[in-house]
Amino acid sequence: MPKKGRVFSGARPTGRQHLGNYLGAIKNYVAMQADYDCVYCIVDLHALTTLEEREDLRQNTVDMALDWLAAGIRPEETILFVQSHVPEVTELHTILSMFTPLGKLTDLPTFKEKVAQQPHNVNYGLVGYPVLMSADITLYKADAVPVGVDQASHIEFTREVVRTFNHRTGRPVLVEPQMKNTEYPKVLGTDGVNKMGKSLNNHIEISGTPEETQKRVMTMVTDPQRQRRTDPGRPEVCNVFTLHKTFTPGDEVAAIDTACRQAGIGCVDCKKKLAANINAHFADFRERRAALASDPNHIRDVLADGAGRARDIARATMAEVRDAVGLP
Ligand code: ADP
Repeated sequence: MPKKGRVFSGARPTGRQHLGNYLGAIKNYVAMQADYDCVYCIVDLHALTTLEEREDLRQNTVDMALDWLAAGIRPEETILFVQSHVPEVTELHTILSMFTPLGKLTDLPTFKEKVAQQPHNVNYGLVGYPVLMSADITLYKADAVPVGVDQASHIEFTREVVRTFNHRTGRPVLVEPQMKNTEYPKVLGTDGVNKMGKSLNNHIEISGTPEETQKRVMTMVTDPQRQRRTDPGRPEVCNVFTLHKTFTPGDEVAAIDTACRQAGIGCVDCKKKLAANINAHFADFRERRAALASDPNHIRDVLADGAGRARDIARATMAEVRDAVGLP
């Protein structure tokens, strides 16, 4: 079946993925392969803007690729690669930066947030982050980029850079990407209030062992009004229940809802059920992951092959870009 166009998406190498990454991003990545030519990139250069993460970059890249592949990214059809393996992106970044007013970058809310988060490390790369992202997207001539609301301003920025570039050079070389709004559910962490993430250590890894998973699930904060086992609970405010809705069969969910409200089931048992269902859900995934991880050469080959295919597209685009800007 002909595909609807090319999709590009990049994620920083954050290592072993958690339920938030899985439900918010990976599932969608896998599903999009049916309709689009997909280019999925592990954006290690972007990760360098926050120096703290640098030490684990290599291992994190491998861990993330393993999770994506085991979850169903098909490298035979999808281009899966590491950003820095295609150095053309840095050249395009430089060229696009000449078409970017500095004030536009420093005005972006995402830049201001980063400055607030790491005032001791407001590096040049941080300012150029959206330009590098534009280079990622346009180098592969992506028609669409799936993004959550927090990244919407970067896609709008990319569209502007493309228009400026094409207009000023008089060559419609770059493609203006469409924003593909994806409904990322905000998965809450074990604390029950904050978005699940590694930085808050409130995450549950999808590749954990059954024991590790159960241990994390048992730390989950439930309805704060339910102090004693005999207190009736409110499933609608409990993140354990929210996750049951994803990982537990419908009839069982209804039974848990009723039992919780009547104090017929305690939080401990409820969590044990959830852990068991998460473990069942990821059992095949974990087997596939273990098989992939046992052959490090294979994962290197997959990423090298992806980089090769990505580079073919990148080289062709850069030939046009260089010509358009008049580089001798
Ligand atoms: P990045 O810096 O690349 O956004 P993250 O690890 O924060 O790295 O996120 C990777 C992907 O996983 C993004 O698409 C993000 O929206 C999604 N994601 C991360 N955490 C959650 C969460 N708790 N709920 C839903 N989606 C999430």
